[in-house]
Amino acid sequence: MQKDLKRVRVAIIGGGIHGAGILHDLTSRGWKDVILLEKNRIGVGTSSRSTKLVHGGLRYLQRISQFGMVRESLKERKTLMDIVPDIVKPIELILPILKRGGRNRLTIKAGLTLYDALAGSYHLKKHSGLSTAEAKAKIPCINTEKINCAFSFYDGQMDDLALVRRVAASGRFLGGELVEGATVTSVNKDQDGWIIDYKDEMGNVQHLKALVVINAAGPWAHEILNQSNLIPTHRAINNQGSHLIFPDMGIKSGLFLESPKDGRIFFLIPWQGVTLLGTTEKLWSEAPNDVKISEEEIDYLINGCNEYLDPLLKKESIIQTFSGLRWLAVDQGQSISSTSREHSIGYHYSGRGYLLTIYGGKYTSYRSLCEKIGDEITKSFGEFRDTRTHEQGAWIPAHLLEKTLDPVQRFEYRDWHQI
Ligand SMILES: Cc1cc2nc3c(=O)[nH]c(=O)nc-3n(C[C@H](O)[C@H](O)[C@H](O)COP(=O)(O)OP(=O)(O)OC[C@H]3O[C@@H](n4cnc5c(N)ncnc54)[C@H](O)[C@@H]3O)c2cc1C
Repeated sequence: MQKDLKRVRVAIIGGGIHGAGILHDLTSRGWKDVILLEKNRIGVGTSSRSTKLVHGGLRYLQRISQFGMVRESLKERKTLMDIVPDIVKPIELILPILKRGGRNRLTIKAGLTLYDALAGSYHLKKHSGLSTAEAKAKIPCINTEKINCAFSFYDGQMDDLALVRRVAASGRFLGGELVEGATVTSVNKDQDGWIIDYKDEMGNVQHLKALVVINAAGPWAHEILNQSNLIPTHRAINNQGSHLIFPDMGIKSGLFLESPKDGRIFFLIPWQGVTLLGTTEKLWSEAPNDVKISEEEIDYLINGCNEYLDPLLKKESIIQTFSGLRWLAVDQGQSISSTSREHSIGYHYSGRGYLLTIYGGKYTSYRSLCEKIGDEITKSFGEFRDTRTHEQGAWIPAHLLEKTLDPVQRFEYRDWHQI
């Protein structure tokens, strides 16, 4: 039976931004012998439930060890804005300084100056200080009684679902294979590489041979390793993040807020005709299939935001909520919020070839991470070629997108929760 098995050089498990990004990276180098298996629809996991920011992450400047990640993300922010300007656009963020509690003006000024410096030639616009009146003009619902002044700075904002779909479609357009509704049940060592067992959309068990396997199943990556009797190389946590959706509050810029109680950062941002407020953090040891915000988290977000607003946000105004799972390798001795968003890679080896598991990572820097993995794979085959994902010519033209992804992929799968 095994002689007739379909063989590929690289099989990717998971159609989130990392799986789709590797498909695109390899096909942009001229490799066509690559397949991506997604159990559901492209982008249905974490990659359509983010805060939608393409950013260096001002908050990560609290640790020197994360400066490199911030700098790389700021460079990628510019690259993505140049390649897919219809999906990734600049957004102004207003950072108010409270009269009582929170970080002081000088600390924030120093952080923003560093943020500008790390962006270097990739900066969008340098930060500036705002009076309370100027902040009010930009964010009418801000409570000027409670704030001393504010800062304005720029980052990127995206349609995350549109981005992951564009990346996956570009991979298919360049000759890669993409199968939705394919649930991988196990990956088994073979003298010739790996044998992947998966169930197709009809529930039939299928087998596939691959020399290299990329486990990009995000929060479900350990489930696949466990089912394959492979011991995970890293300890990981699932950190649930949730957002509340309000009707358009008429703000054109976003608010970057710090909870005066515990120092946690959250955002109130305009997005596609609604206003988003997020995020919270909640730990899971194993990834649940459906994650939903709790009443306690809703109260936490609203109360934290209301420290800055007038009129106050009301629970009754929430239209919907959505939640996603951040899957991170645990840094020893660090709290969850300060556990690095930087990626880690785990390796397992068969008789020939390897299985690579991706831990963590940020949406913003997915392209450079996939490039590093693409470099490694093509070098290991002695067939190195440069990636082309930073070139517009390696992306599917927008008008061909609908023709390249199956019609079934166009359905609405933002399964946001009703309150
Ligand atoms: C609340 C929240 C907010 C965030 N905000 C930002 C932000 O503003 N900016 C930023 O840069 N980053 C942000 N991130 C991080 C970013 O969203 C993630 O790093 C990224 O989406 C992870 O993508 P992924 O491909 O690794 O995982 P996922 O998107 O989860 O993809 C994994 C895929 O694997 C599939 N899968 C699982 N099991 C199997 C199986 N057995 N067989 C086949 N397929 C399988 C799943 O269906 C899923 O589609 C945020 C994360 C969270 C949780």
